[in-house]
Amino acid sequence: MESIAYLYKDFNDLVFVKSTFENNTYTVYLRFNKRVKAVCSECGNPFGKKAHSKHTRTLQDISTHSAQNAFAYKVIVKVDMHKYKCTQCGQIRTPAISMAQKGNRYTNRLRSMAIEHLDAQTTIKKVASFTGISESTINRMEMEHIQASLPPPQEAKPRIIAVDEIAIRKGRKYATVVYDWESGTILWMVKGHDSEALETYIHTLTDEQKAGIEIVSMDMWRPYHHAVEKLLPHAKIIADPFHVSKAIYKSVEEQRKIEFETIQKEERLNFLEQRKKQIGMFKKNPDNLEPDQYDSLTEDLKKNESLYKLYILKERVHGLWKIKTLDQAKTTLHQIVLDFIQSPFEKLQKVCKTIMGYYDKILNGFEYQVNNGKAEGINNKIKVFKRKGYGYPNFEKFKARVMFYV
Ligand SMILES: [Zn+2]
Repeated sequence: MESIAYLYKDFNDLVFVKSTFENNTYTVYLRFNKRVKAVCSECGNPFGKKAHSKHTRTLQDISTHSAQNAFAYKVIVKVDMHKYKCTQCGQIRTPAISMAQKGNRYTNRLRSMAIEHLDAQTTIKKVASFTGISESTINRMEMEHIQASLPPPQEAKPRIIAVDEIAIRKGRKYATVVYDWESGTILWMVKGHDSEALETYIHTLTDEQKAGIEIVSMDMWRPYHHAVEKLLPHAKIIADPFHVSKAIYKSVEEQRKIEFETIQKEERLNFLEQRKKQIGMFKKNPDNLEPDQYDSLTEDLKKNESLYKLYILKERVHGLWKIKTLDQAKTTLHQIVLDFIQSPFEKLQKVCKTIMGYYDKILNGFEYQVNNGKAEGINNKIKVFKRKGYGYPNFEKFKARVMFYV
């Protein structure tokens, strides 16, 4: 009994009366301290002297509540108080108590405990299970906590922003994500990856914020470029070298598939015997191959002229996005375009045409040394976050969680 009383001695406005223990539940009885001036729980207005009806407020407190725990018990707090007529709101109200916020059915400390355990790794279900609070309440608690903790969007002063798209569902559901490139934080997330999606973000900005954006870095994706050209005409646009490399690798891979298909029919070459392994090595960054792997791969590829040529062209692209000087970038890009255009590979010719459409914007990336490699790191975190069991039946909640935790 006494030990339980000890847990309630810090609340000056509440007096411990007694506690009972039954069916693995402690029920703690407290009463409102008459020496403390009661104020309205709704508006904070001090109540008059004349009390209205009696009222008991029931709260859930920190428990050892876990389905797995044989010694599990629950703690329920019952606070006896009087209601008063509030002269400010003109209603019959209960007094505010220090132990819980208005309207809540749980104590502040139980809430803090739950929030402390909420992070990108823990599921709502888990926190609900060990706090004994319902999942829907934990959900709401988390959203309130996130909304109260995230800095207001108008406080952000990004100078360089990176725009990227992420797949929010397998298939074709996309979201547009805007990052503060310098701080590496997510500024905005919206469904869709069209021009309008990005415009939605820009429309949230104040004139001062818009003027403050000097550089926008993004993929070679026409709708995004349109949005920036239209709404942030002063900003320097970068067609991000990281995505350029990615686009080229994608074309190489498409072409490799085409080339492999023609060989498969012949089934003559040695490397087909270990086809899977070879494909894996072909796709890998050459730097990540052991010297003997590299040798055996190129040895095999030499048996097929097209594939060998394709592999050599692929190697040209390697390290492109990390080039440090504009001059070197110019030379390398120039060489890549020439080689690709002259190559017999249709997919490479196609990606070249895209690159040429963004040539100056790509070079801007090297001039300002800005690329979306960093944003890609955050995107990967979002992917991991999705796998941790945070779904997105509700996009706004998913967005809030991503912005808060990632
Ligand atoms: Zn009031």
